[in-house]
Amino acid sequence: MRATLIYGPGDVRVEEAADPVIEQPTDAIVRVVLSCVCGGDLHSYRSWANGEPKRMGHEVIGAVEETGADVRLLKRGDLVLAPFTYQDGTCPFCRAGRSTSCVNGGYWSRFNGGQGELVRIPLADTSLFQLPVGEDSELLPSLLTLSDVYGTGFHAALKGGVTYGSRVTVIGDGAVGLLAVLSAKQLGAEQIILMGRHAARTELGRTFGATDIITERGAEGVSRVRELTGGLGTEIVLEAVGHMPASEQAIGAVRSDGTISRVGVPQYEQVPVGNASLFDRNITLTGGVAHVASYVKRLMPAILDGTVNPGLVFDRTINLDEMAEGYRAMDAREALKVLVRP
Ligand SMILES: [Zn+2]
Repeated sequence: MRATLIYGPGDVRVEEAADPVIEQPTDAIVRVVLSCVCGGDLHSYRSWANGEPKRMGHEVIGAVEETGADVRLLKRGDLVLAPFTYQDGTCPFCRAGRSTSCVNGGYWSRFNGGQGELVRIPLADTSLFQLPVGEDSELLPSLLTLSDVYGTGFHAALKGGVTYGSRVTVIGDGAVGLLAVLSAKQLGAEQIILMGRHAARTELGRTFGATDIITERGAEGVSRVRELTGGLGTEIVLEAVGHMPASEQAIGAVRSDGTISRVGVPQYEQVPVGNASLFDRNITLTGGVAHVASYVKRLMPAILDGTVNPGLVFDRTINLDEMAEGYRAMDAREALKVLVRP
């Protein structure tokens, strides 16, 4: 099989790799039909310096190729979605809808890459989700967002406590930020202020439900949020970037006694606390790695019936031969999110 590897900063290669095999009786092997490049992959693209090449990709739709002896619910040929974690479905965290905290779970991308031709998924019965459509369905890109970015945006909104009538600021116009807008809208938010600078992306944000767009950053961006909210900021801020300036912007934009929910993987060591700190203003800081698998069944129906179209975040499609160009285009912000058809 072929697979995508990162050797070092900016160095993406597609190479022959060993086919995965069933290692545990609960494993399944999946032939990748559709995968994509994640904003999170760009952190490795910019800074990978481990000496060893790293397999890439953690978002997959594919067809079941082979199942272990203990797999009960899946059979060869089933079209399935693989969120970025595997989980047992039975532990206290899984039963509470917190799949990423599963005591027997983990990230299958630690030993696999979704940007390739085949992947091995452990605990297949509870880690792969059957899709009630065919391989040629035009809904596949939207369904693929359930493997990470849509569930992550939804997690931000859920952890932030978005509900009917909420006023929300979303920081970041990447795929997760835009799908946090969509999720906030679905959860009933009344005002959704999107902070982003890329016109095509903020326009998509409006399609997803943003009521106001702020292109300014830093102190200027914060004062624009305050202008729109009677000087107070919004009760909820969803931070989908992960860099320190976005974190500072979140603290500036949130109303006292409000909540910052962050889902951008932090690229900094410590949250900025000091004067005007979280403590003085009673600000709740929440968010983290999304329980994406737990959200699949909740979010899928609105995709299937056409109510939402999160697949609009994909604005380029490539095949495996073009992976290096796909990464370059996303890194240069020429592409919002790149779909990969092996
Ligand atoms: Zn579990």
